[in-house]
Amino acid sequence: MTLTCVGIGPGGGDDMTLRARTALEAAELIVGYTTYVKLVQKDFPHKEYLATGMRGEVERCRMALERAAEGKRVAVICSGDPGIYGMAGLLLELAPEYPGVEVEVIPGVTAANGGAAILGAPLMHDWCSISLSDLMTPWEVIERRLTAAAQADFCIALYNPSSRGRQDYLQRACDVLLKARSPKTVCGCVRNVGREGEERRVLTLEELRDAQADMLTCVFVGNSQTCVVNGRMVTPRGYRLGDS
Ligand code: SAH
Repeated sequence: MTLTCVGIGPGGGDDMTLRARTALEAAELIVGYTTYVKLVQKDFPHKEYLATGMRGEVERCRMALERAAEGKRVAVICSGDPGIYGMAGLLLELAPEYPGVEVEVIPGVTAANGGAAILGAPLMHDWCSISLSDLMTPWEVIERRLTAAAQADFCIALYNPSSRGRQDYLQRACDVLLKARSPKTVCGCVRNVGREGEERRVLTLEELRDAQADMLTCVFVGNSQTCVVNGRMVTPRGYRLGDS
């Protein structure tokens, strides 16, 4: 039996690819974090759902694999892309314990490119993503990656910039970045990409240091060339415009 691990994009609905939609149509049981279940339930009201809370990732994946092993057509949904801080890796790691279950990963639009389009074109040049969540990654490792990305002048998409338990992480991350980057570096925040209450803000790195960002925000730090054009955040690709 094939279990699909489906990226529903940042907001579900219109953000979903046709392939994701087809996979959910084919599924009998849809498994996911409660918020994501709500995002797809309106489009697929007649499916069986299994919604679980935030921290139960391993149990959620095991339940899904067990049901697939019993012969059910199961889809595990993730926001954005399942292979970017999603469930695809964990499902593939656990799958060998469930002989006969194949995992198919169905990609989705991740928060970084969904949010980038709203801000303008901040990721036009080399970029990397860094998650500020230290639930599974020691803070020293996160800090080392921030330093390396800042020194190499990457544009950076920051995922998991804050949560109730760690409100000063964005500030700490900015302090690390400011050691190698100008305080005037153009940055952006996008909240609720593709969902109700979508908001964007363009600001400098020193302003970002004192900004509020929650778990529903994706933060963008430009490179040394990133600029603001008519209110939009743009990282030049390098085309020469002066002599055209
Ligand atoms: N698999 C997801 C990422 C999960 S990690 C993806 O590919 O997008 C969760 C983090 O992703 C959040 O803390 C936030 O930084 C970002 N994120 C996810 N959905 C978002 C949305 N709709 N708007 C803004 N940021 C989002």
